[in-house]
Amino acid sequence: MKVLGIESTAHSFGVGMVIDNKIASNVVRMFEPDSGGIHPSESADFLARNAASVIKAGMIEPPELIAYSAGPGIGHCLKVGMIIAKYLAVKYKTKLVPVNHAEAHIEIGLKSTGVTDPLVVYVSGGNTQIIADNQGWRVFGETQDISLGNAVDKLARKFGLSHPGGPKIEKLAKTGKKFIEMPYIVKGMDLSYSGLVTHAANLIEQESQADIAYSFQEHCFAMLTEISERAMAHLDKKNLLLVGGVAQNKRLQEMMDIMCKERGAKSFVVPAELAGDNGAMIAWSGLVHKDKAISPEKAWFEQKWRLDQSLI
Ligand code: AMP
Ligand code: MG
Repeated sequence: MKVLGIESTAHSFGVGMVIDNKIASNVVRMFEPDSGGIHPSESADFLARNAASVIKAGMIEPPELIAYSAGPGIGHCLKVGMIIAKYLAVKYKTKLVPVNHAEAHIEIGLKSTGVTDPLVVYVSGGNTQIIADNQGWRVFGETQDISLGNAVDKLARKFGLSHPGGPKIEKLAKTGKKFIEMPYIVKGMDLSYSGLVTHAANLIEQESQADIAYSFQEHCFAMLTEISERAMAHLDKKNLLLVGGVAQNKRLQEMMDIMCKERGAKSFVVPAELAGDNGAMIAWSGLVHKDKAISPEKAWFEQKWRLDQSLI
C-alpha cells in the first residue's frame, strides 16, 4: 500500500511516503525565525508557502491512503495540513487517517528500532511525557508547564541564539566545566522546567554561557531520568525508547543509557532523521491505523488531542 503522510503541527511542513511497509520518502522544511520563538500565524504562513515544493519532492507516487497530523499542535498550523490533506484525498480518491502526532513519534520509534514493550520518553518542542502501553497509551509522568525542547530553546534565546536552540545549547554544554547548583523540580512522577529556565537566565551576568548550559542540561536531564527510572521500576520495563526532537541530544541519550544499564535494561533511540517532526512518521502511523480512515469531508483537527484520549 502507498501511504502519504503530512506533518504540519508547529514549525515543520513534512511529507513522507511509506510504500509496502518501507519509508520511501521523507522531506521536511522547518520554520526557523531569525529572532524570538514560533509565532503561530507566521509559522502557518511559512507552512502554506512551502507546502507545494515539499509535496512535489515528497509525494513520489500517487497515494492510496493519506494520513495527516490532526493534533496536538498549533491550530493555525494544523489547519494548513488538514486542508491540503483534504484536497489531495479528493484528487486521488483516497480516504484520510487523522493521526495523533505524539503517537506517530512513538510508532516510528518502535518501527525504526524494533524495540518491544518499552517505556517511551517523548521529548520534543511541544511535549515532555513518560508513556507506556497499558491497554492503550498511558501517560505516567509529564511536565507541568513547558516542554524540555521549549526549555532549551528559551534558554538559547536568552543567550541570543536562534531557533532551534537545542543543538546550540548541547554544543555549548560540552565546553562547560563548572557545575552550578540549580533548582531541581520533580513532583511525584511529574516535573517542571519553567522556573529552572528563569533561574538559569538570571545567571547570565555572573557565569559563562558554557557553564550555565552544561549545568542546565545536567539538571533538566537528571530530572527526566529520575522519573523515567521510577516508571521503569513500577512498570517493570526492560526497555526504554527515546523519541522526539530532543532525543537527538547525546548527553540525554547517555544518561538514559547509564540508568538502564544499572538496572539491567536497554535503551533505544529513534534515528536522527526520524526524531524531529516529519511526514514519514505520519504516513507510518496512518498505515498502522488504516482501519480508522474517514472520508475527506469528515476531516478534523484538535489542538489539545492528548495521546491518552481516544478521538478516533
Ligand atoms: P520536535 O518538536 O520533535 O520537532 O523537536 C524539536 C525540538 O527538539 C526543539 O525544541 C529543538 O531545540 C530540540 N532539539 C533538537 N536537537 C536537539 C539537541 N541535540 N539537543 C536538545 N534539543 C534538541
Ligand atoms: Mg513533534
